This record gives sequence, structure tokens and C-alpha cells, in this order.
Amino acid sequence: MLSFDIAIIGAGPAGCAAALTLAQSNCRVALFEKETFPRPKICGDGVCDRSVNTLRAISQEYYDEFMQFAEKQTMSSTTFVYKNNRSVLNLKNFGYVCKREFFDNFLFSLVQRNSQNVEVFQQTPVQYFDKLSNQEKTEQGFILHDAQGNTYKTYLLIVANGAKSNIAQQLTGEKYSEKENGVAIRAYYEGVSGCDAQSIELHYKKEYFPGYLWIFPMANGICNVGFGGAIEKLKTQPENIQAIMQQWISGDEELKKRFANARIISPIQGGLVPYNNNVFNCSGEGFMICGDAASLIDPISGGGIGNAMLSGRLAALQAVDCVQTQDFSAQKTKLYEEALKKRIQREIKNRLRIQRAIIRFPFLLNVLSFVSKNQKIFNRIARWYN
Ligand SMILES: Cc1cc2nc3c(=O)[nH]c(=O)nc-3n(C[C@H](O)[C@H](O)[C@H](O)COP(=O)(O)OP(=O)(O)OC[C@H]3O[C@@H](n4cnc5c(N)ncnc54)[C@H](O)[C@@H]3O)c2cc1C
Repeated sequence: MLSFDIAIIGAGPAGCAAALTLAQSNCRVALFEKETFPRPKICGDGVCDRSVNTLRAISQEYYDEFMQFAEKQTMSSTTFVYKNNRSVLNLKNFGYVCKREFFDNFLFSLVQRNSQNVEVFQQTPVQYFDKLSNQEKTEQGFILHDAQGNTYKTYLLIVANGAKSNIAQQLTGEKYSEKENGVAIRAYYEGVSGCDAQSIELHYKKEYFPGYLWIFPMANGICNVGFGGAIEKLKTQPENIQAIMQQWISGDEELKKRFANARIISPIQGGLVPYNNNVFNCSGEGFMICGDAASLIDPISGGGIGNAMLSGRLAALQAVDCVQTQDFSAQKTKLYEEALKKRIQREIKNRLRIQRAIIRFPFLLNVLSFVSKNQKIFNRIARWYN
């Protein structure tokens, strides 16, 4: 049986950030991925500054390479639209729009090219695990089982296999709950008029907040257009999510004109958005959970790539310490959870506060829309999305 110090499950942004960080260590690492790269990924394709800053924290060279990466479009401003009111915020280094198929493959290629100590297994879904343990701690860690019946031994697990992870649920005992989740759909369009190539658009209606409709311009005149919101809220609507998005576009005077000659060039596809609810249950004896598997998506912007990469990196740093000290205890892996909280808990708490206030008192959106004409206040609001 192949044996490793650390096994990472999932090679999305969280898993790749972990693998790239661990490539700088002497640990024996396995990276398991159920698909083969490049693989498509349903997303709004908005790659925020936290994602690229995490890449830079891993290696300036990787960051420089991403700056040269042709498949991305710079986002220099965000246009917020509420009740025909448009507020444009110019931002420096806000992020990029980059098709996830390309962005994720970029990260994955870095792992393949630069990580001698990381053995990569594609087309290898980890199906289940057995936990090894005895009182003397002579046996510890996990045996992983893949779909082909192969087994692998590891001391430490980094779980990064995305939303609704059955592995994370088994490890933490926490069951999937619709209450904490959102859902979003997106499609690619060509020929949407009136777009500013470097400005992403967020359109709001009070009944869907914190959900919104987005238009993210990409290269070659293509736009990623999508809509998402909290499952509980969308369930109370008479129409399904696709109908909401399509009726929004066809029912809004301005959008109707802008989409008059647009053509949809992909299926409308969707996925889960596991919002963070200020619950960080992402570590335990022998494991750490990152990204969507740990429900780390921002509760207002719906962005998750940045927190996925940050959590992957922090888990990897803690993993190195665990291997060096041969201590895989819950107290030790908890240090990862603490480091993550230190970085994002305050921000999450603030956003939840704002989110709950607006849900309770929707007129606040009018107020925000009005006060956001004041650049200073608008800058504060804009940080929710940054
Ligand atoms: C419609 C939509 C739009 C979105 N738009 C944005 C956006 O614009 N910006 C943003 O920041 N976020 C956005 N998000 C959220 C974002 O997609 C996620 O937060 C992000 O992908 C999380 O990264 P991750 O690495 O945790 O998980 P993932 O990207 O889901 O990666 C998990 C990986 O694990 C693999 N895997 C799964 N199970 C197994 C297994 N058993 N064994 C091995 N491998 C496995 C998967 O194949 C996948 O490669 C959007 C989400 C949706 C649904």
C-alpha cells in the first residue's frame, strides 16, 4: 500500500494552494482528484485579490506567471445596480475574471510542474476512509479507498473536495443543511451590449438579497451571466432559479435592451454555494478541512475562491508542523482553525451583520444605494466584495 504523510483530497483552488505550499516542504504528499485536468467548473469566474495574493504568498514566481497568463481579464471596477441606480466603484488590484477551467488548470499545472514531493492521482475519487487508532498511538491516521479499490495510508488528511463533501461530513459529524447554503447558476453569453470590459456588474432586488444577478465581461466579447441566492429564500419564490434569472433579464427595461441581440452559448448550469455562517468546524484529530468543504464562502459576495486558497495554504503550513512534530492531535490541527479565524472571522461577522440587517429591513438597500453616492461610504461597502 502506498503511504504518505499528508493526503489532499480535491485539486480545486483549495487543494492546489495546499499542494503548492507543501511542495516547499519535505513531506510526502498525495493529491487525489476525481476528474482529469483541465476540467470545467461552474462558476462566475471572478477571481478576487485574495486568491492572487495567496498565490503570491506561496511564491512570487507563481504570481508573476499568473500576471503573464493570457486567459484573464482585469476587473478594475464594480458597478452596483439597484432600482436603476448605478454606482461605479473603481478599485486597484481588485481581481480578474478568468474562466475556471483555465484558472484551475493554471494552478494544477504549477503543482504538476513544481512539486517533486507531491504525487498526483487524477481520475481517482476518494470514496471512503477508515480511521486508524489505538490507545498507544502506534497506529494513527487513515486508510483511503479509491473507486478502483486501491488503498492509501496517510497520517494527515486535508479535505478540499468542494461543496457538500461527504468526507467532511463524516469527519465532523455535521450534516448538510439547506439553511446555510446558497445556490447559483451561470451561463455564457455573447453579444451583451453596454458592457465595460473591465467592470463587473452586480444587480440587486430586495427580495433576493444577498443574492444578485451578475454580468462579468470576459475576453472575446463573452460574458459570464449568473444569478444566485440563499436556498431558503429562493424556495419561497413561485419560479425556479432559471426562470428568475431569465425573467429578470427580460423584464428589466435596461437589461432587455442590452440582451436584445445576445446569444446564449452554453447550457445554464448551477451549483451549491456553502456560505460561511461564522461556524468554523474544520479540524479534528488527523484532519483539516478547507474551501467549500468547510463552507467558507463569503455570505455577501458569494465568492469562495479566495477563502479556499487561503485556507488551503494555512492548512498546509499547519500540516508541515504536524509532520515535523509527529503530532496529529486535534489540539494541533486546531491551530489551523485558529489561524483561519484570525484571518477571516471578523470580516465574516461584519458581513453577516450587514446581511441580516438588510434581510430584516430591506429599505436599507435604498439607504445604501443613496449613501453610496458618497465615495467614502461606498468604499466601505465595496470592501464586502473585495
Ligand atoms: C454558479 C457559481 C458561481 C460562483 N462564482 C464565484 C465567483 O465568481 N468567484 C468566487 O470566488 N467564487 C465563486 N463561486 C464559488 C467557488 O466556485 C468555490 O468557492 C470554489 O470553487 C471553492 O474551491 P474548492 O477548492 O474549495 O472546491 P472546488 O473548486 O469545488 O474543488 C474541489 C475539487 O475536488 C474534486 N473532488 C470532489 N470530490 C472528490 C473526491 N471524492 N475525491 C477526489 N477529488 C474530489 C473536484 O473534482 C474538484 O476538482 C461560485 C459558485 C457557483 C456554484
